[in-house]
Amino acid sequence: MPQYNSVTPEILAELEKVVPGRVAVGADVNPDYARDEMPIYGTRMPEAAVDVLTTEEVAGIMKVCYEHNVPVTTRGAGTGLVGGCTPIHGGVVLCTMRMNKILNYDLENFAVTVQPGVLLQQLADDALTHGCMYPPDPGEKMATLGGNVATNAGGMRAVKYGCTRDYVKAMTVVLPTGEVAHFGATVSKTSSGYSLTNLLCGSEGTLGIITELTLKLIPAPKATISLMVPFEDLDACTSTVPKITREGFKPQALEFFEKEILVSSEEYLGKQTFPKQIDGTEIGAYLLITFDGDSQDELDALVERAAEFLLEQGALDVLVADTAPKMKDVWAARSSFLEGIEEQTKLLDECDVVVPVNQISAYVRFVADTKQNYDFEVKYFGHAGDGNLHIYTCSNTMEEAEFRKQVDAFMSDIYQKTMELGGQISGEHGIGMGKAKYLKEALGETSIRLMKGIKQVFDPKMILNPGKVCDIQ
Ligand SMILES: Cc1cc2nc3c(=O)[nH]c(=O)nc-3n(C[C@H](O)[C@H](O)[C@H](O)COP(=O)(O)OP(=O)(O)OC[C@H]3O[C@@H](n4cnc5c(N)ncnc54)[C@H](O)[C@@H]3O)c2cc1C
Repeated sequence: MPQYNSVTPEILAELEKVVPGRVAVGADVNPDYARDEMPIYGTRMPEAAVDVLTTEEVAGIMKVCYEHNVPVTTRGAGTGLVGGCTPIHGGVVLCTMRMNKILNYDLENFAVTVQPGVLLQQLADDALTHGCMYPPDPGEKMATLGGNVATNAGGMRAVKYGCTRDYVKAMTVVLPTGEVAHFGATVSKTSSGYSLTNLLCGSEGTLGIITELTLKLIPAPKATISLMVPFEDLDACTSTVPKITREGFKPQALEFFEKEILVSSEEYLGKQTFPKQIDGTEIGAYLLITFDGDSQDELDALVERAAEFLLEQGALDVLVADTAPKMKDVWAARSSFLEGIEEQTKLLDECDVVVPVNQISAYVRFVADTKQNYDFEVKYFGHAGDGNLHIYTCSNTMEEAEFRKQVDAFMSDIYQKTMELGGQISGEHGIGMGKAKYLKEALGETSIRLMKGIKQVFDPKMILNPGKVCDIQ
């Protein structure tokens, strides 16, 4: 275990020289910097926080911290769900939120260059004004693009377009030593050695600090339509998922959720959007599907074919959201699941396993059976089209220590099943510190040894985001 130094007044003076007026200590540090969206994995205030504006400043901060052996944790918007940006060893939090400029569009090559603190929503909106779409669409639109790349965020459109990693062409990275490196290029393909760009995607701030990104865009689709598809029960709903893609439909998004979770979200929003009964039959679960295409006519024909197919699979109805306000409402209900759960729950944990798409139904049945052994409630929903499930354990009545003990046992059960079915323990949220111990169990000694070796090459003093991902005993 490396020994770190505290942030002394002398070190603070050196940091202050690099970012004058942007070093905070004590009560001036934003209390949010002690945590991300999952405080159950632990919280700790940093000794100092710095706001950075340029690559050179980031390099300057890292040189000071490297020399004095002070740990540094990079933070974007802090919307992560695995304790990734929590400074568990204290030290310095380096916040990228003010590096928030879209620098340049290269429309001939369908690329855009941004600073890492640009928010997802900011780029999504801006790209549309250039006739382009930035396809990655994770649920939290106020996350930074640096955070999205560092976690390889997925989201709703991954089923058709892939995850954040698939849209990263090049990046500028400050290494823990303060050295500045450039990985990748604005090209359509490359076989030029190990892909360091790919390695940084999903590295969760443990290998380097991303200070500039060149991202791929695509032409914006001309039309989109969403379908709300209610089923009587969850099994009928989830077993339809692999059939949709097998049938040749290529949805832009394909989400599933139970009625209870929808009800919490609609209560949180104060707006009822989805039906709860069809012709006297209680709805148990829903698919929410979006299709996109080059014309409304093309989509109308596709939707007609899809509706017929879904009804054959046991859907109770197929309701179309074909105007901008209707689509906004249905997706607002879907996007507020976490807020809805948070508002109604005292103790909360979650996981985001991913299994092969044809195993979703079996996996959901396993989770439903397993939860009977525990005292907390379990709620789930997911990016069904790519097999990525978000499973929440919730309690308003249990003691925290007992909740944690039971959740740990439950997570071990369901992660073991995930691996048995050929899945992985995180589809998109990452490992951070919340899931580090399960990663070791899931991947085994060889993979963890290789990951530790990579970490050592990038970060010989282990000062960058220590205690995360593979940095476990
Ligand atoms: C309501 C809600 C819905 C969500 N939905 C989704 C979803 O659908 N899909 C999904 O994938 N995630 C989702 N998330 C999780 C979260 O939004 C993502 O993990 C996001 O990518 C985190 O970005 P951030 O800017 O908040 O990063 P932070 O939480 O600040 O940091 C996350 C990690 O990235 C590192 N990091 C941040 N910036 C940099 C940088 N510039 N260089 C190097 N490392 C960096 C940090 O050290 C940390 O390890 C959701 C979260 C919420 C609250």
